Amino acid sequence: MSQNNEASRARAEELKKLLLQYSYEYHVLDTPSVDDAIYDSLMTELKGLEENYPDLITPDSPTQRVGNELLGGFKKVEHSSRMLSLNDVFSEEDVKQWGVRLNKLLETAPHTFFADVKMDGLACALIYEDGLLVRAVTRGDSYIGEDVTNNVRTIANVPLRLRESEVAVSYQSGRVEIRGEIVMLKQDFETLNAKRRADGEPEFANPRNLAAGTIRQLDPKLVAERPLTFIAYDLLREGEDAPVTFSETYGYLAELGLRRNAEAKALKTLDDAMEFVHYWDEHRHNLPFNTDGIVVKINERDVFNSLGVVGKQPRGAVAYKYAAEQATTIVKDIVISIGRTGAATPVAVFDPVQVAGTTVQHASLHNADEIERKDIRIGDTVVIFKAGDIIPQVERVVTELRPSDAQKFIYEDALKHQYPDLEFERRGADVVYRVKGISSDMMLKRAVEFYASKGALDIDTLGEKNVTALVDAGLVKDLADIYALTYEDVVQLERFADISARKLVDAIQAKKTPTLERFIVGLGIRHVGAQTAIDLAAQFESIDALSEATLEDLMQVEGIGGVVAESIAAWFGDEANALLLEKFKALGVAPVYKRKEGGLVGKSFVVTGTLQSMSRDEAADKVRALGGDFQSAVAKGTTYLVAGGKVGASKLSKAEKYGTEVIDEAAFLKLIGA
Ligand code: NAD
Repeated sequence: MSQNNEASRARAEELKKLLLQYSYEYHVLDTPSVDDAIYDSLMTELKGLEENYPDLITPDSPTQRVGNELLGGFKKVEHSSRMLSLNDVFSEEDVKQWGVRLNKLLETAPHTFFADVKMDGLACALIYEDGLLVRAVTRGDSYIGEDVTNNVRTIANVPLRLRESEVAVSYQSGRVEIRGEIVMLKQDFETLNAKRRADGEPEFANPRNLAAGTIRQLDPKLVAERPLTFIAYDLLREGEDAPVTFSETYGYLAELGLRRNAEAKALKTLDDAMEFVHYWDEHRHNLPFNTDGIVVKINERDVFNSLGVVGKQPRGAVAYKYAAEQATTIVKDIVISIGRTGAATPVAVFDPVQVAGTTVQHASLHNADEIERKDIRIGDTVVIFKAGDIIPQVERVVTELRPSDAQKFIYEDALKHQYPDLEFERRGADVVYRVKGISSDMMLKRAVEFYASKGALDIDTLGEKNVTALVDAGLVKDLADIYALTYEDVVQLERFADISARKLVDAIQAKKTPTLERFIVGLGIRHVGAQTAIDLAAQFESIDALSEATLEDLMQVEGIGGVVAESIAAWFGDEANALLLEKFKALGVAPVYKRKEGGLVGKSFVVTGTLQSMSRDEAADKVRALGGDFQSAVAKGTTYLVAGGKVGASKLSKAEKYGTEVIDEAAFLKLIGA
């Protein structure tokens, strides 16, 4: 067994154990210890592992089981057909893939779709015989549920006799099974809790667990005191009068006196389904019950049934889950960013994960004490959430999933490793490590000067003296502040007069659309010089894409190794920098990237020795102007080594190793069209 396989197996076992525990707390005890988002996130990880290693799928895996074992106290009843769970999808892409699978399976069978909001409650089947309610059964383990008839009879909107209706008259005889969700409406939940507050009793945590817990109370009197609501989503009937589509089913449900969601809709295509999904993402908070998503299924019941079931989920339906505010992921590394005040901020680097609709791959851990307090180690599974909807934060470690080789983070070692040439100190009770021997003002001045320097944004009137004046006057507190400077701000400073103030402000404003590579240089990310900035710009083409790059993405870029990648990830993971980038945007700073065009796109050059016809810098300019890469040393992927004279043995052997073609100056001139 490969090491990878072994690690995956161990991880899968840990996940299964924990998910089964969570599932027991949720389904049997009705007191979950974690949010659904965390359960879903870990479940998604387990599904991924089982997809890669199908032999990990065991019958007791939570991916295969619905619900959990049943509590004693209620009679057990076998379902006429399994009460299944639904396959979760999390993105438009997932829905598209489902569509592709459907098309493959169905070939030409015509089909449409039906969508409804997904209620967060407890699934229940109501069995009617000759129009009378004879039994109510929970979903249980999908095959066998609990007989909760006496309790369900106390739910005011469950008809004890089906409503007589001409359209559905045949359903008054024989067996009809109605499936739906028992929920506590938000308003009822609030009223109940308000009463408990007034009575000095502890409040209930959430409507779903209260509904589930209530229905499985042994005393129907207690159930009757808690306002529950049944909302139907299916009707099972054997025989010729069985409904043909789900839209027809919903019509019958209404005719028979059952509550169903009027919001549910028949849809032609999956694009329509996505529109429904988006609409309810915006409006779901107005629904009377809690929902975490949308159910989309094939509308034609025969087509739906013909698709069958995989594991515990019907192929013909999916549950689209709305972006969760929390997710779990694994800490790959902890890197350190040096902020503009010289403060060292630790940043956790993750396996990328979706939180509140965006991909998150790093989060600031703030300071050494925070890491200690939360005991975050490299290799840990952590719960992350988004504060204020933009900045990801680590909430806590899922300690049950800590691997035996999780590494404690030794702050001072990490500082030494990443910044060997700097010294750091913690002053007094300060929780933050800071660069020793330099004030934060000094750091800021240097950063602004660097941003304005020739190699970066090239704002020629913003030199050392002007920067000092602006920072000392408190007008510039970070890089982006220069763009907010007004003539009035500047002219009041001693150093400036009418013309010079105007000139400075104009010069800054003129640099609001720098090239992406100059902007990247200007940010002053450690180890990111001109060439690296060019390479990053070429690879990612925007600051947003660069800020989302993972360590692996960064290391894919030629010439970027571990230390540089860490430094970039640390910079973008630092909360202060995320805010700085937002501020640049708000002030209208929009770096532009022009895709390279020219005869040398995709070609890279290294010049060794001295060229007769031009300087090395001129050669670099020519190559870059034609879209090529100019590198300082032969590396993997270098196309040409231009020999200005005799080439040393080590360079030659490197060129040989990497398949780099060695050319002379004449050949080089021809390539650049000189
Ligand atoms: P599911 O409950 O997510 O989906 C299937 C169910 O959706 C059906 O049985 C049905 O009752 C219900 N449903 C609601 N509205 C519907 C509609 N309009 N049409 C059709 N069906 C509708 O699937 P599941 O896998 O059985 O349960 C998992 C859920 O339980 C997840 O939401 C999960 O987060 C939660 N859970 C949480 C924990 C925890 O510890 N927090 C543990 C276990 C499970």
